[in-house]
Amino acid sequence: MSARILLVEDEPGLVMTLSDLLTGEGYEVESDGDGLSGLAKALHGGFDAILLDVMLPGKDGMEVCRELRRRKSGVAILMLTARTQLADRVGGLKLGADDYLTKPFEPPELLARIEALLRRVRRDGDAPGAHVRFGDVEVDFDAREARKGGQPVSLAGKEMDLLRYLVERRGQTVSRDDLLEGVWEYQPGVTSRTVDVHVAWLRQKLEENPQSPRYIHTVRGVGYRFSA
Ligand code: CA
Repeated sequence: MSARILLVEDEPGLVMTLSDLLTGEGYEVESDGDGLSGLAKALHGGFDAILLDVMLPGKDGMEVCRELRRRKSGVAILMLTARTQLADRVGGLKLGADDYLTKPFEPPELLARIEALLRRVRRDGDAPGAHVRFGDVEVDFDAREARKGGQPVSLAGKEMDLLRYLVERRGQTVSRDDLLEGVWEYQPGVTSRTVDVHVAWLRQKLEENPQSPRYIHTVRGVGYRFSA
């Protein structure tokens, strides 16, 4: 399975060079030249890693990084910085970036860093998102198929999205607000009650005993936590 990489960079020449380089290595690459829309893609695009420029229009790379970690995104982040000041590097790592690379850099250096990051992500999260197994439940998020005890289970679109969002943040408490934003993107008419109802449906379909869930836990007064 090829890894999906998001390149958030506003320098057209570099975007082209890096896209060619990464595609040539078999990665699936998407790019965005703006910090704000890059952040939205990063949150919802199911990427394994992000190459994130620091100086960006819309929202700078540091802010994008901070926001991704605040929303508990587990995506690997490699900051690309033209600056050489130690403060910026330390700042980026403090905000939750996994690594940084100072421009200009050599392609083999970049590829080596990306491979190292992806190895870490795979180890931590078993290639986040794509496929998960807990108890007798098996879910393929890419194919949007779920099975329980080998039998197909039909999950509605938002149930699948909600489950994926929780699974990708396994072990972490996710607030109803985060879910409203991350899964429903604040659609009108959607309230925290919607979140609760969808959780109940998921438990009904996937848990052995929905009244006493083993996987999708309620964190009283806050939200939900997936663990397996
Ligand atoms: Ca830039």
